[in-house]
Amino acid sequence: MSRLDVDFCVDERARWRSIDALLLRRGRFTGPDFEPGEDVARVLREHVRVLVVGAGGLGCELLKGLALSGFTTLDVIDMDTIDVTNLNRQFLFRAEDVGKSKAETAARRVRERVRGCAVNAHHGRIEEKEDGWYKQFDIIALGLDSLEARAYINAVCCGFLDYDEDGNVDPATIKPLVDGGTEGFKGHARVIVPGMTPCFNCTMWLFPPQTTFPLCTLAETPRNAAHCIEYAKLIQWPAERYGETFDADVVEHMTWVYTKALKRAETFGIPGVTYAHTQGVTKNIIPAIPSTNAIIAAACVIETLKMATMCAKGMNNYMMYVGTDGVYSHTVEYERDPSCVVCSPGIAHALNANATLEEFMASIVAAYPDSLAEPSVSFGGKNLYLRGVLESEFAENLNKPMIELMNGRKEGLVVVNDKKMKKTSMRLRLSLK
Ligand SMILES: [Zn+2]
Repeated sequence: MSRLDVDFCVDERARWRSIDALLLRRGRFTGPDFEPGEDVARVLREHVRVLVVGAGGLGCELLKGLALSGFTTLDVIDMDTIDVTNLNRQFLFRAEDVGKSKAETAARRVRERVRGCAVNAHHGRIEEKEDGWYKQFDIIALGLDSLEARAYINAVCCGFLDYDEDGNVDPATIKPLVDGGTEGFKGHARVIVPGMTPCFNCTMWLFPPQTTFPLCTLAETPRNAAHCIEYAKLIQWPAERYGETFDADVVEHMTWVYTKALKRAETFGIPGVTYAHTQGVTKNIIPAIPSTNAIIAAACVIETLKMATMCAKGMNNYMMYVGTDGVYSHTVEYERDPSCVVCSPGIAHALNANATLEEFMASIVAAYPDSLAEPSVSFGGKNLYLRGVLESEFAENLNKPMIELMNGRKEGLVVVNDKKMKKTSMRLRLSLK
């Protein structure tokens, strides 16, 4: 054995000492199904595949954290290129990387810095990948800043779920998600185990529409600088510059709103109207805080490690962090929405015993006009009716009784897709009486 080999071995043992402390022995916080030992450490290092969605502020932190926690096969997907304004917090990027792919650059930097960690980059939109592509990963970690993208991945993963006749989920079809999100000094980390815990869609109500101020407050009782800026933009601009559309990228427009807001603030004795704040309010810019990203990503990495190894009980199921006035954090257990169209075993739907497929489709369109217009229907993995180019092939099913199409069953889970719902499927537990 050469000197180099010796160093390497010693280094390799020492390298994972902190993680081994969690994996090689039982402790007070280990989960009930946890089997400590070399096997679990090997599974983590050799078999677990994690996909990181997003290579921005959270994504960089997630990749770094996962690579340093013993995960050795990572994939990262992001469609963005690096902007100079990213460099203060997206620490895997350098000035010479501006204009390059975030996913590719982040993957390369982690590969360079963390020996033995393979990171595969995918530069492109998440929608470009087929649903099946997401199946190859054991855990998907989300470092996104858009609700739409979260809802999309959530729908893809919930689409894998298979329930039995009693509404019990087949564990093999569960694709767990760990979701992080930050906004200024606030953030959240959550664990989504589709079919077990609430999915993203179950708790859509958590994300209220963007904050807007009541117009009466702006007009009558402004209390802060933002109120004055909104007043200048929403009320003074259309009144005094009738016919012109406010463009936040035109300096003259921004200066005009700033000047008006400042005057109004002075009238009411309100401090804090600055040009930068005016830009922030009118463009709805929320500053990205590197430390918030680091805290939230760390929580997500720990949850991913727990899920991969069972070395501790997972978070149940939503942690919020507020760093505005000190350090506040709180974990709450959100509950599943039993009628969630994305993850529930099925919404009860009854029809008479000899109803045909055509009658069934008419009845569901009538029952869910907001979600359905031209449904495609499948049962037990078999298509009963498809829209589009193949539609004519299914025409003969239209007049067949549902009970026949459901192989003589009087009850079953029918999956409905419709362009109106975009990516989500509706699950209906149909009973024929
Ligand atoms: Zn749900």
